[in-house]
Amino acid sequence: MTEASEKINLLGLSPTKMEEFFASIGEKKFRAQQMLKWIHQYGEADFEKMTNMGKGLRAKLAEISEIALPEVVYEDFSSDGTRKWVMRMPGGSSIETVYIPEKERGTLCVSSQIGCSLDCSFCSTGKQGFNRDLTVAEIIGQVYVAAMSFHEPGERRERRITNVVMMGMGEPLLNFNNVVDAMNLMMDDNAYGLSKRRVTLSTSGVVPMMDKLGDVTDVSLAVSLHAPNDELRNELVPINKKYPLKELIAATNRYLSKLPDRRKATIEYTMMEGVNDTMEHAEQLAELMKQVPCKINLIPFNPFPNSGYKRPSNNRVYRFRDHLINEGHIVTIRSTRGDDIDAACGQLVGRVADRTRRSAKYIKAVQLDSNQ
Ligand code: SAH
Ligand code: SF4
Repeated sequence: MTEASEKINLLGLSPTKMEEFFASIGEKKFRAQQMLKWIHQYGEADFEKMTNMGKGLRAKLAEISEIALPEVVYEDFSSDGTRKWVMRMPGGSSIETVYIPEKERGTLCVSSQIGCSLDCSFCSTGKQGFNRDLTVAEIIGQVYVAAMSFHEPGERRERRITNVVMMGMGEPLLNFNNVVDAMNLMMDDNAYGLSKRRVTLSTSGVVPMMDKLGDVTDVSLAVSLHAPNDELRNELVPINKKYPLKELIAATNRYLSKLPDRRKATIEYTMMEGVNDTMEHAEQLAELMKQVPCKINLIPFNPFPNSGYKRPSNNRVYRFRDHLINEGHIVTIRSTRGDDIDAACGQLVGRVADRTRRSAKYIKAVQLDSNQ
């Protein structure tokens, strides 16, 4: 999105808000559906080309509204097919979005905030500090850009994106309303039509917001656990001091119980050598996770400069996994994709005009370190 404008940006209107918008100018509900299709399925941003809308309506729309698209500054392709887009936001910061193609599906990893305020010790987004929440247009704009990159303008887009995970930069539950509106667009048949099972929100455990989420949506849930006891989790994921494991597990179960089907939560566990990857940790994790219907996703740590952590060897990861499997758990290991273009989990940094001054401290530490 470029300069701030007085006009309403239709890109960021959820299906309900689009209906309200058209009602406010005396138009019927079906206009909202037509507009959603033009924007999200045909990628059309020019009102004049929306031929099923009358001339008068098109003029009115142009007067009071616009379809302002994100500004892509950079697009990168990995040798394994992963793609990364860097999008500039007003104010000079930038965010990153990643597309990961697999045999049966294509997953888009979407950001929800510029930076993150939660400061997990192993996350490069966290180390950059926090700037601001993304708007609905900026969140859905990432899906728009990726979806449109796969098709010719004017044609109905191909379905290359089958899954969206809110696992880019930021903590989605701390930008609640905008993330919910954007996910409603992802799942709307007139927009991206994704199944609720294939839209996943990942949280580090903002417990009260998990309950709120269950009241308004039924997307899939991923919980970033990373440690099997409070002492270690307090260190790695500081929000644990506010909402410890017991509360997090209870909230996860409450969320699952509200879903209309028997879906499991995904438990994400980033593995760092010597920190949370010993057999003792595996034993604790296996016990703890018996309290939640879940599949466990092990993520070997993705390094970034001066993180202070190391990725464990494959053997260590397999041993850890095997113990969990022997204890009856479903376990996957996330393959590292796109690391040649810094697009792997936790490597997304964008450019954050930090308002917490955390990055200043971090940069200083990096400089000290590289002087050694
Ligand atoms: N804030 C949300 C969503 C974004 S993080 C959350 O924390 O869940 C997406 C996932 O990547 C999280 O599970 C996060 O813990 C993981 N991650 C962060 N840094 C990582 C790193 N350096 N290597 C591997 N995974 C990382
Ligand atoms: Fe924020 Fe998630 Fe990174 Fe933690 S892991 S700092 S919650 S983006």
